[in-house]
Amino acid sequence: MSRTRVRVEDLFCARCRRPVRIGAAHWPEGYICASCRDHALETYGRCAGCGIDRLTPGIAPDGGRWCTDCAGGLGDFFCERCGREAARYRRGVCGNCVLAERLGGFLDDGTGRIRGELVPFHDEVRNVPRPKGMLTWVGKPHVQQILQALAQGQVPLSHEGLGTLSPWRSVAYVRDLLMHSGVLPHRDRHLLLFERRLPEWLDVVENPEHRTLLHRFATWRMLRKLRTAADKQALGAGVVTSARAQLSQAAAFLAWLAERGRTIDGCTQADLYAWYAENAISRRHVQPFLRWSMDHHAMPRLKVPTVRTENPAPISQHRRIALIRKVMISDELPPMERVAAGLILLYAQPVRRLARLTIPTASSTKPIKVALRLGDPPTPVPEPFADILLNYIHTARPNRPNGTAPASDWLFPGRGTGQPMDPASLGRRLSVAGIPTLHGRTATLQQLVLQAPPSVVAGMLGYHAVHTEAVAAQAGGTWKKYAPGDHTR
Ligand SMILES: [Zn+2]
Ligand SMILES: [Zn+2]
Ligand SMILES: [Zn+2]
Repeated sequence: MSRTRVRVEDLFCARCRRPVRIGAAHWPEGYICASCRDHALETYGRCAGCGIDRLTPGIAPDGGRWCTDCAGGLGDFFCERCGREAARYRRGVCGNCVLAERLGGFLDDGTGRIRGELVPFHDEVRNVPRPKGMLTWVGKPHVQQILQALAQGQVPLSHEGLGTLSPWRSVAYVRDLLMHSGVLPHRDRHLLLFERRLPEWLDVVENPEHRTLLHRFATWRMLRKLRTAADKQALGAGVVTSARAQLSQAAAFLAWLAERGRTIDGCTQADLYAWYAENAISRRHVQPFLRWSMDHHAMPRLKVPTVRTENPAPISQHRRIALIRKVMISDELPPMERVAAGLILLYAQPVRRLARLTIPTASSTKPIKVALRLGDPPTPVPEPFADILLNYIHTARPNRPNGTAPASDWLFPGRGTGQPMDPASLGRRLSVAGIPTLHGRTATLQQLVLQAPPSVVAGMLGYHAVHTEAVAAQAGGTWKKYAPGDHTR
């Protein structure tokens, strides 16, 4: 009996050319590494051979996708339990069925059934498009403990109940999924994070009087302000960072005063100047605390030194046009940065608001008309930017960034389930790409208010009329008296 000779090229994956491990799948085209196989068994669409919409793990010679029947020799992937065609995880059963079963066990309320309130959560999680990541997650002991605590009523099934569980990263993910499936009402994740971390931050303040004052400041002023802001729109990660900085600078200020032998109610103007003189930039974070302390008679009313940090030099229209040309014509920018830059340079959108944009509407008839929901009414998008925008949405928009999160409508989706991208990371990406976000937006707004009445620009772009009128006045616009729908004035 002759042994089959193993050829060198056989030891590499036929698709990605990386070395394969012993025991790797062998398909007609050759060995397939584990990650190419996983990817193939998560790929659905119209088969290039028979035209049927189903699992298409095979690759045709021309690069198109093939179903198992057209490719032949890949195996049978119909789940014996649910009948769905998918990668199998155990004895002919698909990942979603295994996930449903394991998850069901952890969500058992003690009677052998899933706790009623958690059924929508179970439905949402068991049906994720790529169950592998979710199975790994559910396999972690601390995740199981969180789920069991909720299912068996060891903690209330509420935001407050979740707040008593740890570790906080896993709790945050469970909370996202509970909100996404409608089990818990929507709450701002960064606000929750702030509430969660606050006790830890206050704990490190040694002086009990300082701690009491900081606690009052944090709950009466910071939390109230954050809650009001979160009611209007989702907070960014920067909000928590900045709140933390305010609190630690306030604590540092109290400690610094104490070293000078003073308490805050005896703080003098000279003390305040001395504090700022040492390092004005990082110390500006203490301002909200100082103002609050003065308003609440915790310290004498003093003059707070102003600290300027922003460079007000705007960019010229000439430079703005050059940037627009770069965005529209060259494709040297990555698709996401290209779209974000276009929105800033054409529609004067702040990065914070970009992160909240949902995908635009597009007409189903030709020629396709694309409109962005920046304000009311929706703003039409001209060519060639409409094309760039649609192309990004259809090919480059990160839809399921962590492999398990359900699809979202955000134009720039973030890493969390159903969450938009954090404005700070979007801003960083743009600055790496050389797009001046703040000055680019200012220059755009100045140009737009010269071309149309400020109130119209405001409505279109989602700004307040007061703001656009101020920009128009600065830019020397003559539209100040115009009001939409009222031409008699
Ligand atoms: Zn491979
Ligand atoms: Zn086929
Ligand atoms: Zn199944």
